[in-house]
Formats: sequence, structure tokens, C-alpha cells
Amino acid sequence: MGHEWAIRALARSVATDRVAHAYLFTGPHGIGKTTLARKLAQAWQCAGDNRPCGACPPCQKIARDRHPDVQIIEGVPPRYDFDKDPPPPPRANDWERRALRIRQIRDLERGLARAPFEGRWKIVILRRFEESEEEAANAFLKTLEEPPRHTRLILTARDASLLLPTIASRCQVFALRPLAPAQIERALIEKYNAAPEHARLLARLSAGRLGWAVRAHENRARLDARNRYLDELNVALSEGRAERLLRAESLAKKSDDLPELLETWLGWWRDVLLIQNGDGSRTTNVDREDALRDQAHRFTTEQAQTTLQAVRATARYLTQNVNARLALEVLLLNLPGK
Ligand SMILES: [Zn+2]
Repeated sequence: MGHEWAIRALARSVATDRVAHAYLFTGPHGIGKTTLARKLAQAWQCAGDNRPCGACPPCQKIARDRHPDVQIIEGVPPRYDFDKDPPPPPRANDWERRALRIRQIRDLERGLARAPFEGRWKIVILRRFEESEEEAANAFLKTLEEPPRHTRLILTARDASLLLPTIASRCQVFALRPLAPAQIERALIEKYNAAPEHARLLARLSAGRLGWAVRAHENRARLDARNRYLDELNVALSEGRAERLLRAESLAKKSDDLPELLETWLGWWRDVLLIQNGDGSRTTNVDREDALRDQAHRFTTEQAQTTLQAVRATARYLTQNVNARLALEVLLLNLPGK
């Protein structure tokens, strides 16, 4: 949904059987890259007339991730032991760090060397390829350059620039763009039975990612976490130095949550600035407009701007392995006050 231009181009390539070496779908997490990859795999394996028909056995197996010739591969958590650990469960959140390892590429090569079991092709979808270790990416390059004849490859990544240029340049790239909030709102109401008020909020919060909105609709935990993060911020704004230091310490303990917490805070200060600039209709946090307006009034534009930059810088520091507690202390102490 919302990527009709890509679907049209891919449908044409399926109909005329002019297929690229490999495909790369890029865009933010939750925008529909894997969904599109699965659809393309269905179109290639489909036994029906209107490919992908969605109803034939290959289409159904792919939809349930049960097709023996369609494999979805993604990275494993740090310190994962292939010989001892059970298969890793789905990640708890978008920010959990994982890496595609060379062992996975070797296993993949061995699998591709054999002919398909029941499909026309052996199809591999490599998700979040930007998370591959350099060694693994380099090893994969060989498969990408000379894939076995019955092979079709689809990669997904946040952005093509995060991959080795030698990898991206060998793929046909489809850069998926965020959807309009109204489009997401309509989809949530019509296809997922969301209540209109709830759909409106999720559509705004989703930043154009339908997958994110659907998951947040089906799983309250995401929205609950977002509410918690905003509560933390709003309480901190009325706290003194000592209390903020304690808060920094407690926040730093939940290091897995920090990227999303900071992303939420970033959205908040962006909204404050929008209102200050008279652009209140474009805010994201539509359910908390009173608090936003209050702060837009209470703080100066300069304060909001400085805070926005500080939150962004903190997010960047955390990816560089700085001490999380220290970074949060600096950030919290520099938040504007009462
Ligand atoms: Zn089918």
C-alpha cells in the first residue's frame, strides 16, 4: 500500500520475465520492505494466473513463511552461538542490535548450490542488510556477482548508502517513501478496524510507516512505551538538578529503550517548535496538544531548538558507545526548566 509505483514496475518485470540480478528495497523500518519482498517472491513462485494470486499453495506457503525455497534471513543477536542457542526469537523492538554473520552467508551459499525443492526458484530475502558484518557482506558479494542460475535475491536496508557500494550497485534499487498520514489513517480504519481517534494518533506517530502503525495498533506495548517516554520527559522538565541526575541514572539502565526514547523526545521538541512557528497543524503528538501548547508558550524558540539538537546529539553519541549515563546526565541537566 502506498508504493504503487514500485509495485507497477515489479509487476511489469514479472509479466515480461525481465528480472534483475538482485533487488534492494530501502526505506525506514516498518515501511513495507519485507512485505513487498514477500509479494515479489509470491509472484515468482505463484502457480495461479494472476501472479501473485495469493491463493495457490506456493503463495500461501510464502505468506506463512513455510515455503522450502523461499528463505528470509536476518542478523542474530551479539554473542549468539549457532551451535548451542535456539533460533533467535523475533526482535523485541526496532532498535535491538543484531548482525548478519559470515556463518549465515556460508550456510546460504551451501543451500543455494542445491536445486529448488518444489518452486521455480530459490529465493532469498536478506533483511536489514545494513546490519551485516563487513566480513559477511564481502562474502555475500561473491554470491551477488555470480548467483547460481535458479537463484533470486532480494535485500532490504534502511538506506542504500549504508551498504558497501559494490553491493548496492549490483542491485536494482527501489527506495520506498513514507506514506501520507491520511493514507495510513484510512488503512487502519478500513483494513484493521481501528477506532477513528486511535487511527488518527497512530497515523501521525508512524511517520509514514504503515507497518509501524499496524504493529502499534495490534500491540499496545509500543504506544504504552511512547506514553511512558513522554511522561518521563514532562516530569523531568519540572525537576531540579538532583532529581534529574537520579532520573538519568535510572533511564541509563534500560539501554535497549534509549534509541526509541530519544526518537520520541525528538518528535516532541519538533512539535514544540512547529507550534512556536505557527505550524501547529503538522504536529505529531496530536493527543497531547495541551501540553505541547503550554511548552511552546513557556519556552523560547531558542530553548526548544537547543534541546532538539541536544537530544539528536545524545542519540548519535549512544551509537558511538559513549557512557549512556553520562550522556543522559548532560542531556537532562540541559533541559529547560520551570
Ligand atoms: Zn499464487
